[in-house]
Amino acid sequence: MSENCITFSKEIPVRYSVDIAVLGGGIAGISAACAAAKMGKKVLIVDKMNCLGGNSTSGGVASFCGETSGQGEIFDEIIHRLEGFGAIAEYNPYPKYSKELKLSHNHEELFEQTKPRIFDLQFLISVFDKMISTYNIECLLHTRVVDAITTEGSVKQVVLAGQSGLEACSADMFIDCTGEADVVFHAGFGTMKGREEDNIQLPMSLMFFIRNLNDNKDITLIPEEYAERVHNKDELPMNTLWPNGPSGNAIKIKINGFDSTDTVSLSKAEIESRKKMLQVIDYYQRVEKRNWYFDHISPMIGIREGRRVIGDYILKVSDIQAGRKFKDAIAKGVYFIDALSPLSDKREMLMKMEDSQVPPYQIPYRSLLVKDAVNLLVAGRCFSADQLAMSSARVFTTTSMMGQAAGIAAALALQNNCTLRNLNVSELQKEITKKKGVLD
Ligand SMILES: Cc1cc2nc3c(=O)[nH]c(=O)nc-3n(C[C@H](O)[C@H](O)[C@H](O)COP(=O)(O)OP(=O)(O)OC[C@H]3O[C@@H](n4cnc5c(N)ncnc54)[C@H](O)[C@@H]3O)c2cc1C
Repeated sequence: MSENCITFSKEIPVRYSVDIAVLGGGIAGISAACAAAKMGKKVLIVDKMNCLGGNSTSGGVASFCGETSGQGEIFDEIIHRLEGFGAIAEYNPYPKYSKELKLSHNHEELFEQTKPRIFDLQFLISVFDKMISTYNIECLLHTRVVDAITTEGSVKQVVLAGQSGLEACSADMFIDCTGEADVVFHAGFGTMKGREEDNIQLPMSLMFFIRNLNDNKDITLIPEEYAERVHNKDELPMNTLWPNGPSGNAIKIKINGFDSTDTVSLSKAEIESRKKMLQVIDYYQRVEKRNWYFDHISPMIGIREGRRVIGDYILKVSDIQAGRKFKDAIAKGVYFIDALSPLSDKREMLMKMEDSQVPPYQIPYRSLLVKDAVNLLVAGRCFSADQLAMSSARVFTTTSMMGQAAGIAAALALQNNCTLRNLNVSELQKEITKKKGVLD
């Protein structure tokens, strides 16, 4: 044992026992859990926040990018339920891949042109609550996966730290949708992060919200000790005024140089982002004379990239640029490679415009299979891909499709009494297609 370490042992109750445990309740996790429960499986979903949704709710990111139709019946249901609240923009098909689209736009125009569907995230929280209860999924909130117990490649239990203290959950199948690949990491399977050369991750962004005052009410300026004064917009971090569904405005600011998988670094990122937030607000109020009032901040900083899993196949940027098809395809992506440079807080991209647009491509089942693991799948932004391939596939639409596929795969394997690797992939694809997922 190295210095500065302790060992401790403690008996903890196995309070939960299910067919399929989904760890992480972002859009990938919700899609996986609902898909598995709809196939009759007993499912538990666990999230460290006070609501489900991950970046789409707690992270303040209120727009679905990519193609919003054909992602599968779970994503269709999410859209349909948001429509019931009048809380989502109309459908626009994702533009067809073309030379013109490829050459004539900068990233901001490209974002506009690809018509993300903006929604009201406050309603999305209730939509997710409703879906979980509709499909009888047990849901633990304020509960974090902190360890996993593994024997010969099989995860036996995950250790959860919730309000009651440490408890364990046993399951036949586990699906890691934590975004940070926490389960895979704690279980001792392979993960990677950041750029290949130096492991630096994509930047995070903080979403915060302003009210736009129409009257001429005086605004009290932010005290100088909280916001270092900036006189020129170029001195600010990249900041984007961002619509937040029908009800307000958000500002997104880029925060680079932190590691979302490290306790100290992530804590610093949150604190630094709030400092930058006040600086940005101060600039707009004081220099540009905008009559904006600070409304609220997202409960957590938006994390684009944590750990990524080493799977049976690592999806590569060259695969997606070539629009590669796979025999074991379980999802489809169309979104451009949206990779902000991690090296500065300014608007700099990792790829040239002309290279960032991609033709429709497929994601293979093998990139959801965790290398050397028997009963563990991954879905969402921590799936097995290189950094740039993930920068396209991480959008809500594609991650929901991956999640649904993972949920179906786990349920089918249990139903057929086979391992995840012996699963008949054409049966899986048939099921995905039957459930409104368009793979081609
Ligand atoms: C700033 C920003 C802007 C973006 N803009 C867009 C956009 O406009 N449109 C778009 O489609 N996509 C956008 N994306 C991408 C998209 O938000 C994500 O890639 C998407 O959230 C992926 O979903 P997920 O379920 O894989 O991960 P997440 O949304 O990150 O969900 C992971 C969940 O796991 C939980 N969790 C993590 N660790 C643990 C643990 N140990 N125990 C228990 N729970 C845990 C988290 O609380 C979270 O709920 C953006 C991302 C960011 C950060």
